[in-house]
Amino acid sequence: MRTINVSEITTAVKELCIDANYRLSPDMIEAIKNGRENEKSELGKRIFEQLEENLKIAGEEQIPICQDTGMAVFFVDIGQDVHFEGGLLTDAINEGVRQGYIEGYLRKSVVKDPLIRENTGDNTPAVIHYNIVPGDKVEITIAPKGFGSENMSRVFMLKPADGEEGVKNAIIQAVKDAGPNACPPMVVGVGIGGTFEKSALMAKEALTRKVGEHSEIPYVMEMEKEILDKINKSGIGPGGLGGTVTALAVNINTYPTHIAGLPVAVNICCHVNRHRNVVL
Ligand code: SF4
Repeated sequence: MRTINVSEITTAVKELCIDANYRLSPDMIEAIKNGRENEKSELGKRIFEQLEENLKIAGEEQIPICQDTGMAVFFVDIGQDVHFEGGLLTDAINEGVRQGYIEGYLRKSVVKDPLIRENTGDNTPAVIHYNIVPGDKVEITIAPKGFGSENMSRVFMLKPADGEEGVKNAIIQAVKDAGPNACPPMVVGVGIGGTFEKSALMAKEALTRKVGEHSEIPYVMEMEKEILDKINKSGIGPGGLGGTVTALAVNINTYPTHIAGLPVAVNICCHVNRHRNVVL
């Protein structure tokens, strides 16, 4: 059994919050560069150039890539041979968020109650998904999520008879409905199967997969490529101003489901698809 003091978690989370908001991960930087090279519209190319300049300025001047620094979403894989000391793990993660968002001058975007809407002032609480895994390590992945794109996400409870075509149509429809509101070029996270909530969770986690990496399941990989191609023919384009690169990737995760159902969740992320991870 390995013991980890939760103060280590707080420090790691604080650094993840700041780093993720100041710099995109290398896979996203590469995807935006490739997007600029592949974009056919002149206006679209200029939008990509502005996005790249914005990324450069944010990194150099240590400022957020976007004013919407997101709600802090975490996937935490905990080795079952780990024991935590020094307090509650969830409290330690929230303390890291509090310190990161205050010290990094990141916008505080969380309200205490969804209807009374008083800002908590420190971007807490985070949304944390725990997973127990083998071993004695802890892997923390952060994905600060902007709500321009979050608001355009959908869950479809399809019927088994809708089949693969129904799934593809639902995903493409969600992206078309999102249009410019999701701050394209987007990354499209998809969860197929499970239950209502499992599909949404898979869609969110799919956004943390490296852009450019495909599903290991051959038919799912083919779906990812085909749907990306169809989305990019929609003409929405960078910034929603028309063009040939509307999405940078479609990442699909799947899970077994019930004989009577076919849940499909589409979690859309904008071009500021932030994700970072650390292993302790
Ligand atoms: S959706 Fe993304 S790019 Fe648009 S405002 Fe929110 S974080 Fe920024």
